[in-house]
Amino acid sequence: MNPALPYNETMEIFISEIPEEGLHRNGVLAATIFGLSPEDSIQPAGDITYNATIYHFDGVVTFEGSLTGKFQLQCNTCLEYLDYEANFSKWSSDLELDEDQQSFDLAEIIREDFLLDLPSYPRCDELVPGKLCPKAHYVVKIQKPLEEEAKSEESDNAWGTLDQLKD
Ligand SMILES: [Zn+2]
Repeated sequence: MNPALPYNETMEIFISEIPEEGLHRNGVLAATIFGLSPEDSIQPAGDITYNATIYHFDGVVTFEGSLTGKFQLQCNTCLEYLDYEANFSKWSSDLELDEDQQSFDLAEIIREDFLLDLPSYPRCDELVPGKLCPKAHYVVKIQKPLEEEAKSEESDNAWGTLDQLKD
C-alpha cells in the first residue's frame, strides 16, 4: 500500500453524521475498489469520481448525485475490449439500514451501483457508433414484391431454413 495515495478504498459514513438537510461528499476513488480479476468483462480504466448528497430518513439512506468513470468493457459477442465512459449524471440509490446499523461504506455503495448500471451485455457495435462487430451475424432484410413474398413464405422463414440445413 502506498500511503501517498490521495484516496481511500473505503469510506465509512456514520448515520449520526448525516444532518437533516443532507450530507455532501465528493471526491475520487481508486479503481481498485472494484477488486475485479484481470479476466473480468469489466475493467476499470482509471479513477472514479463521485458527487453525492446523502439523506437519512426513517432507517433508509438515499443518495443523489453523479458518478463518472472510465472502463474497458468486453464485447459480449467478439470478446474485444472497448473504451466506455460511464457518466451517471442522475445517480440515485438507496440503502435500507439494518436495525442496529450505525454506519455504511460509501465506496461499497458506489462500487455496486457502477456494476449494476454498466451495460450488462455490451456489444461493440452498440457502444461504438458505426462499428460492426466482427462476430455478430447481421440480418440483411431485402424488400421483395408482396406477391413473391406470399409465395415464398414457406421456404423463407427461419425454421424452414433450419430444417433444410438439418437434412
Ligand atoms: Zn464485438
